[in-house]
Order: sequence, then C-alpha cells, then structure tokens
Amino acid sequence: MPDDYKGSCLCGGVIYEVRGPLRPVVACHCTQCRKTTGHHVAATGAPAEALTMTASETLAWYRSSPAAERGFCTRCGSNLFWRKDGSGRISIWAGTLDGPTGLTIERHIFAASKGDYYEIAPGALVFPESD
Ligand SMILES: [Zn+2]
Ligand SMILES: [Zn+2]
Repeated sequence: MPDDYKGSCLCGGVIYEVRGPLRPVVACHCTQCRKTTGHHVAATGAPAEALTMTASETLAWYRSSPAAERGFCTRCGSNLFWRKDGSGRISIWAGTLDGPTGLTIERHIFAASKGDYYEIAPGALVFPESD
C-alpha cells in the first residue's frame, strides 16, 4: 500500500496529493450522496492536513447540509471531497485516486436509503443509518 497518493478530477482542474495511511473505504448510500454522484459514494478519508492541492482552480464547495460541504470540479462535474465543519478530517472519493489504492470497502452506511436497483455486496459491515 502506498504511503502517498495522488488523485484528480476527470479534467485535471483539480489535482491533489494525500499522505497516507488512508482510512478504509466507507460506502454511503444516503440521498445526498446518491444525488451528487448518481449512485453511492465510496469514500476514504484522512486528516485535513494530509491533503495538499496541486491544482484547484476549478474546485468549488457546495454546502449540502448545515454542518458539511462537498468539493467538486466546476468544469467536469467530478465529485471529490466531503468535509464536516470542525472535524479536522476530509473524506476523499476513492474513485478519484490514481492507480492501485490497496483499500477495501469496510462498511456501508445509510443502507436504508439505498436505491432499489442494486444489492450491497456481502463482506462488509452494513448500517441502516449513520455508523
Ligand atoms: Zn474537472
Ligand atoms: Zn452520504
């Protein structure tokens, strides 16, 4: 598993590096994650100070709830980040990482809100709401 990771949006307007280790992946099936990604989120995470932006001219933040906001690319529409006010951590959408990650999905949250067109694969913890 690499110690340092790189990632980007689809168009390259947002490029970042993040110092590992990264948290195992959490899949979130909540309504907000489904709307913003078109499916469900698969997010790793790290302390906020572990993230370094290499390019961010097209990065914008959408306040999706009173206590949290979501980072996305205003040019290509990629979803990349989620952060809760005051948490000191950042969630990073695992699909935006480049190359092998060595990560696995550890848990599914808000499973009660998942779409009816897919099943959650066995092998990870499942929580109906938040964990
Ligand atoms: Zn982009
Ligand atoms: Zn969610």
